[in-house]
Parts: sequence; C-alpha cells; structure tokens
Amino acid sequence: MSKKIALVTGANKGIGFETARQLAKEGVIVIAAARNEAKGKAATAALQQQGFDVEFLQLDVDNAADIQRAYDYIDQKYGRLDILINNAGVQLESNGWGENTAPKIEDQVLRETLDTNFFSVVQLTNTLLPLLKKSNAGRIVNLSSILGSLNLHANPASPIYDSKLFAYNTSKTALNAYTIHLAHALKATNIKVNAAHPGWVKTDMGTDAAPMNVADGAKTSVQLALTGEDGPSGKYIHLGEELPW
Ligand code: NDP
Repeated sequence: MSKKIALVTGANKGIGFETARQLAKEGVIVIAAARNEAKGKAATAALQQQGFDVEFLQLDVDNAADIQRAYDYIDQKYGRLDILINNAGVQLESNGWGENTAPKIEDQVLRETLDTNFFSVVQLTNTLLPLLKKSNAGRIVNLSSILGSLNLHANPASPIYDSKLFAYNTSKTALNAYTIHLAHALKATNIKVNAAHPGWVKTDMGTDAAPMNVADGAKTSVQLALTGEDGPSGKYIHLGEELPW
C-alpha cells in the first residue's frame, strides 16, 4: 500500500512540528508547511536528520497565492492528499472587551484573528478538497480549542471565560461550526472532518504555565489524522473524548 500524504500547517514549531514528527514516525509522508522559509526549512531539516520522510512547503495560510501554489504543488507531485491538519493559528494580544474597550484596536484584533484561525482555514480546505477527494480515506483535522466551546462559555460561572480572549475564542467557535458543516457536506464521501482540542500545551502560545508537554499535545491531532473507517466525523475531541460544542 502506498504511503499516506499529509499536509501540516504551522509545522515549524509547537504542536504542528510535533504532529509532523509523530505522523512521519507512523510512516506518513509529511509536507511540513510554514510561512517563514528559514524557520520551516530548519524544522524540516531537523526531522529529516531523524530519518523521516518530510519535505518543506512555504505556506502563509493568509496568502491566497500561497494556497493556490500549495494546491498546484501537491497536485503535480502526488495527485492527492490524504491528511490535512489545519494547525496554524494565532492568539493576539487584546485589552479585553470590557468597559474600557478601545473599539478600533479590538476590531483589528478580531479581524486578524478570524482571518488566520477561520477564513484561511476555510479557504485552504476548500482549495485542497479536490485532492482530499482523490484519497480513499481523507482526513481533515481542525485545531480548535476548548476555549471555542459555547456550551462551556454559556455557563455564567464558566471557569474558562476570559474577556481578553474573546477574539481567539470566537475564531475557534467559528472553526467548530465549519467543522460540523463540512462533515455534513462530505458525509457521502470517505473524508472525515473533526475539531481537535490538543489540551493546554507548553508551546509559545500555551506558555510554560501549561500542564501538558508537546508530545501529548500532538496526540489528538495524530489520532484523528490516522482514524479508521469506523472513526468519528463532525466531532469535537480531546484525546478520544468528545467535548461539548
Ligand atoms: P504556536 O504559537 O507555538 O505555533 C503556531 C504556529 O502557527 C507557528 O508555526 C506559526 O508560525 C503558525 N502560524 C501562525 N499564523 C500563520 C500563518 N498566517 N500562516 C502559516 N502559519 C502560521 O502555537 P501552538 O503550537 O500552541 O498551537 C497550534 C494550534 O493549536 C493553534 O491553532 C492553537 O490555536 C491550537 N491550540 C493550542 C493550545 C495550546 O495550549 N498550546 C490549546 C488549544 C489550541 P510562525 O512561527 O511563523 O509564527
């Protein structure tokens, strides 16, 4: 059987880098995508030195030309894509949406966050969908967060509510909605689409205060990427457990 082909966005560091490593360890050919060429090449070289079948692709998910180039490259080289990990994401500084909100700054934060964490995921996924349809077991994993759970936020005593993260949380809620939509739209195909909450993970985004190491933090993405025919689709999952939307 031929090897699976995976594209991981934001693979130069953090959970994306570790996801690329774990997938490659499972025998998957990994296209490690990063917006910064120097950082992406260095990360890819580190994985190649460990003997893994990994190649670098320059891809800023906010850049429409990069997305089209990614499609053309994968189409010409492999003719299909088996796994898409929408991992790239941002969590921008905000002063919070409270009484002292500075509307212009917050509007900018909201737009930039939604651009990368939501609109770019939709555009990249839609562009690559014809290649995923050529796989006999396509898997799409959207890196969400428990912070996108409306169910948990709707509780007035929610322990996870933080007004400074409104933009980030909203972007992940929107990503969850897209995950459900796409799973419905693709239910007659072999493609499975799920939202992953990695856990609170020690990375530049998660900070050193996070309890989970990056090896465990990549597990949910890897499990969903390699899930079998009887695996979930249209679910919101952390380490095999379903979360409330
Ligand atoms: P990091 O900040 O460590 O890494 C984020 C990655 O995304 C980097 O490679 C970054 O590239 C890349 N990225 C950001 N914007 C773009 C863009 N426009 N185009 C291409 N790549 C981009 O974060 P984590 O590894 O912690 O997070 C990975 C995913 O997991 C994110 O979607 C995050 O929201 C999610 N998540 C993380 C949690 C945690 O505790 N760490 C908890 C819940 C969810 P560059 O190096 O160039 O900036």
